[in-house]
Amino acid sequence: MNYPNLMSPIRLGAVTLPNRVLMGSMHTGLEETGDWNRVAEFYATRARGGVGLMVTGGMAPNREGGVFPGAAGLFTAQDVANHRIVTDRVHEAGGRIAMQILHAGRYAYGPDCVSASAVKSPISPFAPRALDEAGIEQQIADIVTAAARAIEAGYDGVEIMGSEGYFLNQFLVRHVNRREDRWGGAYENRMRLPVEVVRRVRAAIGQGILIYRISLIDLIPDGSSWDEVVTLARAIEAAGADVLNTGIGWHEARVPTIATSVPRAAFAHLTGRLRPMVGIPVITSNRINTPGVAETLLAEGMADMVSMARPFLADPDFVAKAAAGRADQIAPCIACNQACLDHTFGGKLTSCLVNPRACHETELVITPTDAPKRIAVVGAGPAGLAAALTAAERGHEVTLYDRAPRVGGQLHLAATIPGKEEFRGLIDWFVARLDQSPVILRLGETVQAAALAGYDEVILATGILPRPAGIAGEDGPRVLGYREVLAGAPVGPRVAIVGAGGIGFDVAEYLVHAGESPTLAPDLWRREWGVGDPAQVPGGLAPEGPQPEPPARAVWLLQRKPEKPGRRLGKTTGWIHRAALHMKGVRMLGGVTYGAVTDAGFDIAVNGVPQHLPVDTVVICAGQEPDRSLVAPLQALGINPHLIGGADVAAELDAKRAIDRGVRLAAVL
Ligand code: FAD
Ligand code: NAP
Ligand code: SF4
Repeated sequence: MNYPNLMSPIRLGAVTLPNRVLMGSMHTGLEETGDWNRVAEFYATRARGGVGLMVTGGMAPNREGGVFPGAAGLFTAQDVANHRIVTDRVHEAGGRIAMQILHAGRYAYGPDCVSASAVKSPISPFAPRALDEAGIEQQIADIVTAAARAIEAGYDGVEIMGSEGYFLNQFLVRHVNRREDRWGGAYENRMRLPVEVVRRVRAAIGQGILIYRISLIDLIPDGSSWDEVVTLARAIEAAGADVLNTGIGWHEARVPTIATSVPRAAFAHLTGRLRPMVGIPVITSNRINTPGVAETLLAEGMADMVSMARPFLADPDFVAKAAAGRADQIAPCIACNQACLDHTFGGKLTSCLVNPRACHETELVITPTDAPKRIAVVGAGPAGLAAALTAAERGHEVTLYDRAPRVGGQLHLAATIPGKEEFRGLIDWFVARLDQSPVILRLGETVQAAALAGYDEVILATGILPRPAGIAGEDGPRVLGYREVLAGAPVGPRVAIVGAGGIGFDVAEYLVHAGESPTLAPDLWRREWGVGDPAQVPGGLAPEGPQPEPPARAVWLLQRKPEKPGRRLGKTTGWIHRAALHMKGVRMLGGVTYGAVTDAGFDIAVNGVPQHLPVDTVVICAGQEPDRSLVAPLQALGINPHLIGGADVAAELDAKRAIDRGVRLAAVL
């Protein structure tokens, strides 16, 4: 059997699951669309893919507890009927699904938010109202009602969200809970709320599965101690939970917990430490994205089950493919957050960079063609690969050209950046799919227009050309392009980077690192970010703070816009890039006017004030222009090509748009 631990059944309370994979809770925004067929199809697709148990996105138990105004919940009979559409479809598909109940407490984005005490969170503009006794009872009652309605709506159980700094978690720690009544003070009192919630929810849901998500390391000052975590876990077990799921870090923590630069399974040892302390199964989570990693964790006794959330956006058939020994065909979640969490926080529907069909299952449908065509795709970057593979899957005869000796395009450059190693997995997945597909691959060929005559359709996915910055001295020996630098060109000890977009930040990261990438060395990564042991320091922040390795070079990161560099990076990951470079002493300057690069360095002005940077190397990361060099020659032959990816629009191009455009074009050809 492939992955024998992962694929073995497990009993949770009254229910036996066929395998040990949990699809963790994700807010997709689908419920808020009101299109319940679409919600149902999202979950049913994953049920068909074989996952043992799914947990929905967090449902608000009441208006004040919703993460944002209008957050979905089971408030009315109509809500229950709508959710019944989802649970019926999942059960028809042979799956199981639990509903997460999420009370955001002081993280609720609205003036009516409530908490233990009126202590505002650093990440919210709203100070919560401190609840009185009756108010606490009302919140518990609302959570219990939500749980009962979940069962009425056909869910197999509920997950009580007790981690990530949400409502229940807020009562546990003294810096938010300043109460002196029976809900505050001694730990026994501070944990009363979550324990009462579990006890009463148990009574309300009969044999339903009861999952409690517990924070194992808060990653905030003065968070829970390890003794408190164990005490709570045992009390939650005694109160009737069937299984404990792992939560890592409050949302206000200044330590990344799921981004791509976090080492795989970086926090699983904490679940492993809790496991012998309780009698119920424990679920581990965070940065687990392959069946191999999941299997190893189970084999090493770190957990009884593994939770993966975003990997099920990337590939709904994760479990089925793993079980069938086809793990190389699993679309990998690269933990970029670009189409999932960044969308959620930007008020957009969730999707996935590697799988544009995620949450668009009913809208973006790939069907066999009834009119097969001969299609040429020029460029085997993500746009061309996505188009070629999708077109071939539909039954077209596809030839894919690239002048490089390998497929992947700029993804190879992304994969050289310390902390972006997951991009390698994306390239490997494309290669594995090509191996199984009838796509004719022509590598090492710079295609000329004449070679494309005779195809029914021509798709240009030729990518971009780096934009010159137009700086005096740009042609000199001290100036390099980012492609040369990432290909290994020698760079001096003092460097200025022109352009502070995504690539400028990545090049800075590349230049300040020497030796092993912390993402591949968990102990190094923990030191870099100041992650300690909650058994030694409550909350688990190392007392000595972040201890990054010294920077390999002195770096200046420059942009002309008079704003803070990095402001436009990903909503949920930009702060990580900025913090990482700050820790390495990178000087980030906005409002720069470029002078000349000379033998002595680089002359610039910052907000009009002249400065001389004594640098050895200047790296140009000034954006890109589309490479459309084949368009005119093709048009001269009467061929009108389709343009996708960078060849179409280079501005704000990323792999997400490249893949999305490739799949969408191929879906309609
Ligand atoms: P490309 O990837 O540029 O591929 C174009 C291909 O066309 C190339 O392989 C080229 O050899 C081939 N080609 C061109 N002309 C011809 C011809 N005439 N004949 C044959 N072949 C030809 N994006 C993200 O989403 N997230 C990130 O974190 C991220 N990080 C990045 C980090 C770095 C350092 C870099 C450089 C890029 C990063 N990107 C990231 C951007 C992302 O890689 C690009 O947006 C994406 O690769 C563009 O895809 P594409 O298919 O349009 O073009
Ligand atoms: P970019 O984000 O557009 O940034 C280009 C930078 O160059 C800007 O800082 C811009 O700032 C500067 N610039 C533009 N024209 C210039 C000129 N003529 N002279 C000097 N400076 C100039 O592009 P990029 O950094 O090349 O990244 C390309 C794409 O890759 C991005 O759109 C991004 O989506 C993707 N990417 C994403 C990530 C990620 O983590 N998600 C990482 C890497 C790349 P000023 O105009 O203010 O000087
Ligand atoms: Fe994973 Fe990125 Fe897809 Fe989100 S968008 S699921 S992080 S690959």
